[in-house]
Amino acid sequence: MNKLEKQTEILLDWQKGIKHAPFSLHLFPTNKCNLKCMTCSLRGKEPYEADKEVSKAQYVKLTNEAGKYGVQRIVITGGGEPLARYDTTKAITKVTKKHNMEGTLITNGTLFKEDLIKQLVEIGWDYVQISLDGPDSKTQDFLRGKGTFRTIMKNIKLFNHWKSKLSKNLPEVELIPVVNSKNFDKLSELLILANKNNIRHVTFQSLRVPDNKESRKLILSKTQYKLFWTHVKKAKELAFQLEIITNLENLDKKIMEETSNLTAVINHDIKEQSKQKQDKLNKGLNKGHVDTFKNIACYQPWIEMIIKPDGLTGPCPPVADNLHLNIKNNTLAEIWTSKQMEEFRKGIITGNIPECCERCCGNLILENREIRKNVQTK
Ligand code: SF4
Ligand code: SF4
Repeated sequence: MNKLEKQTEILLDWQKGIKHAPFSLHLFPTNKCNLKCMTCSLRGKEPYEADKEVSKAQYVKLTNEAGKYGVQRIVITGGGEPLARYDTTKAITKVTKKHNMEGTLITNGTLFKEDLIKQLVEIGWDYVQISLDGPDSKTQDFLRGKGTFRTIMKNIKLFNHWKSKLSKNLPEVELIPVVNSKNFDKLSELLILANKNNIRHVTFQSLRVPDNKESRKLILSKTQYKLFWTHVKKAKELAFQLEIITNLENLDKKIMEETSNLTAVINHDIKEQSKQKQDKLNKGLNKGHVDTFKNIACYQPWIEMIIKPDGLTGPCPPVADNLHLNIKNNTLAEIWTSKQMEEFRKGIITGNIPECCERCCGNLILENREIRKNVQTK
């Protein structure tokens, strides 16, 4: 069963009143980072003090709890760069696989040491997603920092070396380039580079630039957007030939082109779902709990939980800032079943979407659309 099917099955259970643990738990070990990428939303922000971060011992404890509670997937991400807390991240990966949960590590790819690469291959870690934006050092180093291209390529080669030496297929190394004015015409080159390095997945990300003059230059002009869609067409054909899995088929014009202004896109989705729900109510077509999940804007509060570096938790980062639930004071299960989470879920069902949802991210909007489509067929 694929991820979408598993998520749908969980939602259908919730509809029947059968509660589940979160399907995915996203951990943000730190907001510190060794880089200063042009596209980073943390640019100019101070990192948390080390003593405010969830401790390594707490992470180990809560990953163990996640395994016992029924969480199926751990995603270690940022925020900052997870490998800036090297030992903590390394420990989380071990506990994740001890409980047979699926593991994804999202990283800038520059801080690996060979011991961790070897460990990830040995324990059967599932996915390593690397933020490589350019197919050459000129593009990549301009966007993410001097020397990043060379270091990332060296680390990808080390993954291939250890996978071949230990006769393992995992982890799958994937590329997650952020599309911007410096690489919108290099999609095919990125696919060629991926192919040469045994990489079978490339997922293009929409740009969300921080509000500073320098980074705003990364937003594509109207002419560049026109050209971008022709490059997408060519890259789709190439991906097919090279048998590389991409999200090029699903790129949404609005989400890609609205860049830093996703509010309009989210509001449109939310309004559309509330309207459809109201229409059904007016026509007496809503069959109580059976239809609960068919027309809602967001499914995260039933399937996903995140933990920020300071322990704040919720279904996603913007909401975690407002719920005031902290993993340092509660267990995962206590938080997931808390009154605040229940109230939040009720709000989403009734179309009461909080203002902070304006800070949602493009990929989550797409993911929610996919889930909604799938739920509606059941
Ligand atoms: S690697 Fe990630 S967290 Fe670090 S500066 Fe770049 S975008 Fe920001
Ligand atoms: S911010 Fe996005 S993921 Fe979070 S609750 Fe709002 S719509 Fe859902």
